[in-house]
Amino acid sequence: MNSFSEYMQLLQPFIGGGLSQGEYVSRIIGHVVLEAHSDDPKNILDVKPKTMAKWLQGGEKNSLPKKRAEEILTFLDSGKFETFVYDTLTDDSSTVLNEKLDSLNFKFKSAEVSEKCAEYLVAVLNHIVNDGTTVQKRKSSKSATIPCIQDYGDRLFLEENGKCPNDSCTNLLYKKINDKTVNTYELATIDTNLPVGIENTIALCHDCKFTFEATRTTDSVTRMKEIKREAFRARETIELIENNKLEDGLERVVKKISELPASTLTQLNYSPVSVDKKIPSDIFLLQKVQSMVSTWYPYVRDIFKEVSNEKGLKYKSLCSEIKTAWINLDEEGRTQAEIFSALVNLISTKINDRQDLCEIVVSYFVQECELFNAVTE
Ligand SMILES: [Zn+2]
Repeated sequence: MNSFSEYMQLLQPFIGGGLSQGEYVSRIIGHVVLEAHSDDPKNILDVKPKTMAKWLQGGEKNSLPKKRAEEILTFLDSGKFETFVYDTLTDDSSTVLNEKLDSLNFKFKSAEVSEKCAEYLVAVLNHIVNDGTTVQKRKSSKSATIPCIQDYGDRLFLEENGKCPNDSCTNLLYKKINDKTVNTYELATIDTNLPVGIENTIALCHDCKFTFEATRTTDSVTRMKEIKREAFRARETIELIENNKLEDGLERVVKKISELPASTLTQLNYSPVSVDKKIPSDIFLLQKVQSMVSTWYPYVRDIFKEVSNEKGLKYKSLCSEIKTAWINLDEEGRTQAEIFSALVNLISTKINDRQDLCEIVVSYFVQECELFNAVTE
């Protein structure tokens, strides 16, 4: 057994506390990751119970995403999970669970049931992160972990955006040699007391790696863990942008919006009838979108038509890209305001233009593409 859903199902009768599927997984994850993690607005603790229930049900489409497994490992607090399991189990259920765990044919380091639970969870998560290297192999054979390091070097490089992430270092992690890009990063294990894995590895420039390893202290390890977590959070946005091509024509749309003469805008009084139904619970976002739509909507619609006719912009596929990005963000448990600003950031980064102009575009899509309708039932 090495899927997250199977393992969670195994534990459910013992530590599920009669909760619904979503609440149960949410509760477990709450007891697995660091408290400090909850400050991040996009973090796993904010994922909706509906999505968490899917992780429990499992199957190809519903399994815990790799990115989330990596997130749990990066913010893992094994001690907290062990305490939770210890406090939840009774003497009897503890004996039965122990037998179940022993039947998994896994080499546990610990003899304590609660510690075994945490150990196996880490193994399952590592299994997901490493794309199916078997749980047993990773735990018992040292050589199995070494090839993985090379595999995830490039991912760490991307995570850190090609720059050494260490405090006050400005070195790049690559060099241009005869027009070729050569990666120059070196991988350092952050905490040598923890298992080797991507969540415990950081890509640094040569000097920083040398200094970090030569002068390792509890404080410098703690700080390096923080740096690693910051890089992990930043990567979520990068991935979103990388995966989203957005049509070239969008750049021209935004340029045309910026060229509209202010005098024409004041004449208009378009009333966006349905926006308030789409944003029922966030008055500030509602006001922003409403005012953007009532001022700009018909103009932006005309500009989109114009640019579509000039070719270079596939309107329907653009709408569906925006919609897909929106749904993905929603499933990650972000609020409407967070989704709105993430999309604004996405577009403004992609086309390299002003945020306020991109807010007009995203507001237009809220009105036009039934964005919120797609996600609120
Ligand atoms: Zn450096």
